Amino acid sequence: MNKSKTIIVSNRLPVKITFNSGQIAYQNSEGGLATGLGSIYRTGNNIWIGWPGAIIEDDMLKEQVSVDLKEKSLFPVFLSDEEINKYYEGFSNETLWPLFHYFPSYARYSEENWESYKAVNQKFADIVLANLKNGDQVWIHDYQLMLVPQMIRSKMQDVSIGFFLHIPFPSFEVFRLLPWRAELIKGVIGADLIGFHTFDDSKYFINSCQRILGLTSINNQLYVNDLPVIVDAFPISIDYVKYNELASNKVLKQHEDNIIRRKGEAKLMISVDRLDYSKGLINRLKAFDQLLSQFPKYKEKVVFVQLVVPSRDTVKQYSELKEEVDRLVSDINARYGTLNWQPIQYFYRSFSIELLSALYKTADIALVTPMRDGMNLVSKEYVASKIDKKGVLVLSEMAGASRELNDAIIINPNDQISYVNALVQALEMPDEEQLRRMTAMQEIVARFNIFHWVKVFMQRLEDAKTLQRRLS
Ligand code: UDP
Repeated sequence: MNKSKTIIVSNRLPVKITFNSGQIAYQNSEGGLATGLGSIYRTGNNIWIGWPGAIIEDDMLKEQVSVDLKEKSLFPVFLSDEEINKYYEGFSNETLWPLFHYFPSYARYSEENWESYKAVNQKFADIVLANLKNGDQVWIHDYQLMLVPQMIRSKMQDVSIGFFLHIPFPSFEVFRLLPWRAELIKGVIGADLIGFHTFDDSKYFINSCQRILGLTSINNQLYVNDLPVIVDAFPISIDYVKYNELASNKVLKQHEDNIIRRKGEAKLMISVDRLDYSKGLINRLKAFDQLLSQFPKYKEKVVFVQLVVPSRDTVKQYSELKEEVDRLVSDINARYGTLNWQPIQYFYRSFSIELLSALYKTADIALVTPMRDGMNLVSKEYVASKIDKKGVLVLSEMAGASRELNDAIIINPNDQISYVNALVQALEMPDEEQLRRMTAMQEIVARFNIFHWVKVFMQRLEDAKTLQRRLS
């Protein structure tokens, strides 16, 4: 039987490869996306195409890795050092990332990096095409691969192509700054279904297509060659049950006891972020400083645990940010700390999921206050981990998650006065109010979980293709 299949395409494959004295080891990724999409790529003859995360030059080794990965339904796209440099670190992370997160002054415009981005997108598309048959579905992920939809469409008409952007899509005035803005969105509209985290992102995308390409649209349909392309919001989520069950697991007991012993009677406030200028680390530290200076009664009554996961720290803006965070943390600790109390406990490393879960579970308050974030999964993981339904989430209105988690205390991270007031409100919130807000947020995260997200996107992709076939 010639059954159709689904091909997932993303920059990274959900696997980590390590080489140890001639031995290759493969570790499956436990990230949320890999979990959600696991229900797809591990089924039938479906596959996942992407970079295996290691630079492999040797042809025999490439062959070996390809054979090993094929058993897991994974197909590698091998990238050279130079390609990683220009396509991934260069164009993706130093041009698209800052621009799409509303940091246009950080964006670097390099023709050389753009050329590499195009060439690598073509490399991905070629591998997809080599595995593709009419009637198949392709689901392409994220800002590294925005040209792939059209590259596939130009060669294969009767396939369903979905594209999902995991970061924000900026408003037209910001997007237009990109020298290759037309080429980029022409690449995306090769898809039949284009998904974003929020309704605003999808509106901004449609608006850019109208202004830059002169396309017409009706509601959430863009007309490309007289056929509708659906543009919509699909807020990504987490495996709620996994985080909820982990929080009930006895293996956490020792971690929890340690955290509780260290904080003593004080309230525990936490933040968990990758090192990134979009995460609002500096504004947060300044707000915490302001809290302690304006309300000295909170001295020794609150401990702030800030976990920063190392990321891209060879890039200038990231290493400068790290220095600034280090400086502010030690300054605050030196100014307010006492022999019994260190206001900020700062970790610059990653935590195991068990330790993270214990931290979420024991924290009285979580501060998730990015300057801009596509969604922000930490906010949802915190909510899912509160099995006693107590705890307060302070959430930036610039995070996609703020559209769903209305029962958080919503702040603008640039507004320091409101930020400090929100911290006070969180520290003083009565138990019944915490319970009411947390219950409402848990219902949302439990219902609209990662499996729901995958199911709805795939269903909408099928509907979009059916509509197109009917009209063509
Ligand atoms: N995380 C992790 N290791 C850590 C701390 C956090 O893997 O030590 C995870 C966290 O559980 C979450 C992800 O990193 O799933 C961060 O996702 P988010 O959407 O909040 O931000 P991103 O880093 O994708 O911008």
